[in-house]
Amino acid sequence: MPTPTRFQVDLDALHANLATARELAGGRRVLAAVKANAYGHGLVPVALSIQERGSAEWLGIAVTEEGRQLRAAGVTLPLLKFTPTLPDDLPEAIDAGITLSVGDEDAILAARATAAEAGRVADVHLAVDTGMRRVGAEPSDVERLAALLAASPSLRVGGIFTHLPISDVVTGAEFTRAQLATFDDAVAAAESVLGPIELVHAANSGAVLGHDLGRTNMVRPGIMIYGSYPDVATVPTRPLRDVGRWTSRVTFVKRICAGETVGYGRTWTAPADTWIATVAVGYGDGYSRLNSSRAGAPAPPEPLSTAASPDGTPQRGGRMLIDGRSYPVVGRVCMDQTMLDLGPEPPSVRVGDEVVLMGTSGSERIGVEELAALMGTITYEVTCLIADRVPRDLRG
Ligand SMILES: *Cc1c(COP(=O)(O)O)cnc(C)c1O
Repeated sequence: MPTPTRFQVDLDALHANLATARELAGGRRVLAAVKANAYGHGLVPVALSIQERGSAEWLGIAVTEEGRQLRAAGVTLPLLKFTPTLPDDLPEAIDAGITLSVGDEDAILAARATAAEAGRVADVHLAVDTGMRRVGAEPSDVERLAALLAASPSLRVGGIFTHLPISDVVTGAEFTRAQLATFDDAVAAAESVLGPIELVHAANSGAVLGHDLGRTNMVRPGIMIYGSYPDVATVPTRPLRDVGRWTSRVTFVKRICAGETVGYGRTWTAPADTWIATVAVGYGDGYSRLNSSRAGAPAPPEPLSTAASPDGTPQRGGRMLIDGRSYPVVGRVCMDQTMLDLGPEPPSVRVGDEVVLMGTSGSERIGVEELAALMGTITYEVTCLIADRVPRDLRG
């Protein structure tokens, strides 16, 4: 165990969350989004585990390199690349047997030429833009594009899909319903030219958890299989299990005196004599510098640093768990190290002890949503930012 900072991934929890998605999907096929290194959890091992246990029929990726790595590792499940593929990237994508998203005439022509040149039939899904305004065809163009696809023998249209930007927010329900109605019409237009299309899909996690999935026959959950709701404000309808547990270890313990400062910039001053533990994790591992103790950070669930900034504003910041107890981060998070205030009593904390940055320790829990709040971001970004140098330990 040479590297002290590690990201443990509980595959049983991930499969339980996938089972929840499947149950909510009510007989529809399941595509598991594994893009961005499986939201930071480890692309290849997560995908292989899904393939072995048969917990999804499809995998969703964002870049060709992800598909190449999956194929090299022996993943044979169909792979849908959600994003447009640039012409110079097409030969490799088609060679890897990646299903391409196409959303305009140029993309269709480029894909069909590349596939024809390689002597292959490439699988494509037609992307329809019903309100995301990111990629995909205008609904009014769908019939024309379907005709072009029908006249492209080197392409096989295996699916049609759209994407929902506000399916996770209750107040967005009307917008989402309108999108799905527009999508229904687009599917009908495409099928009037192409005949029945095998896969019709729209639902990301927000829609799986909170919307009528209509006539779609596949769902595309991502964040929910990694254990969080897409929006922290969503009232949970289904319990999801924590998948990631991020830990490090104590490397140093020392006593400091009242009035001394800790760390770069001398931003935290000990209000009384206290004990400090140094932990082997920093922003170089993806543990955000926004976990530093600072004035104006969002309030975490625990009373944290007792210190005040020079202007008297209370400082707050991240916290970590050691042996079931919560300790505040003090001073700035460094690149490779972070300091905790253990308090005035001689501590039971020892060099080598496990420190939990995210996950449970005894009855204490730091959720990914707590880290996201401190960073002013969404849970997706917290795990995506965990650095490559942090080994992923997949269990279960
Ligand atoms: C990332 C992505 C998903 C999964 O979204 P979640 O909110 O993580 O469930 C589904 N579809 C597309 C097109 C995506 O890009």
